[in-house]
Amino acid sequence: MFNYNESDTHIGPAPLSPELVHACMERVKDLRLEGFLTGFGRWPGRLMMVGEAPGATEVQNGRPFSGQAGKVLDGYLEALEITRDDLYITSSVRSRPYKDKPVKGNPDRLSRSNRTPTRAEVLAFAPILDQEIAIVQPEILITLGNIGLQRLLGDGYTITAVHGQPIYSKIQQVDRDYPEKGYYWSDQEYCIFPMYHPAAVLYNRSLTDVIADDLKQLRELIGQKSQIVEHK
Ligand code: URA
Repeated sequence: MFNYNESDTHIGPAPLSPELVHACMERVKDLRLEGFLTGFGRWPGRLMMVGEAPGATEVQNGRPFSGQAGKVLDGYLEALEITRDDLYITSSVRSRPYKDKPVKGNPDRLSRSNRTPTRAEVLAFAPILDQEIAIVQPEILITLGNIGLQRLLGDGYTITAVHGQPIYSKIQQVDRDYPEKGYYWSDQEYCIFPMYHPAAVLYNRSLTDVIADDLKQLRELIGQKSQIVEHK
C-alpha cells in the first residue's frame, strides 16, 4: 500500500535498548506477569497499533496478536487493505497479566487466565512503548481498546466516546529511568485514531457494524495522509 524505500525501513521487532528492557522487567518481577515480547512490524513506519497486553498464545510464540484476537485484527487489516508488513503492532504492557483460580471440583489445581493490566503495570512498561514510538515515528497511532487509548491520552478518554475519529494531541510519556514519577506530556503532537480492541467483538457481536464504520474512517484518513506525503 505504501511506497517505502525498503533500504530505509525494517520489518521485525524495534531495536529496544537491552538496559531499558532489563530495568522494566526488574520493576515488574514480583507481579503476576509472565513472558516478554516486543512489538513487531515496520519501523520506521507510517502506522502503529497499540494494544493492551499479550495473552497466553502471544507469550508462547513471541508474536503480538497471534491468538484469537489476532484473527479479528487481520480482518481489520484486510478492511484497510494493508498487511502486517505495512505497520508496527505493539502493546501497552509487554508481558501477559494473569490470574490463577482453583479449578472447580479440584481445588488443588489452578487454572490460569488472562486479566486486564493494572495502571501500575502499564506505567512500569511505559518506557518501552515510548522508545518504540520514538523508533517507529508513526504518522497515525491507532490505539486498540481503552488501555492503549488511556496510556497515550490519559484517563479522561474512553473508547465508547471517541472511537473512529482522529485526535490530534500530545501524548503521555514517562522518564525512562523513573516511570514511577508518572506521566508528562510529549513536546510533539501526534494523530491518534482510537479503535475498539479486536477482542471486544468476540464478546459483543453488535460492535461489528460500528467497527466496520470506524475502519472506513481510518482508511480514508490513511488515504488523505498518503496524498499529503506524495505532494511533499
Ligand atoms: N491483545 C493485545 O493487546 N495484544 C496482543 O498481542 C494480544 C491481545
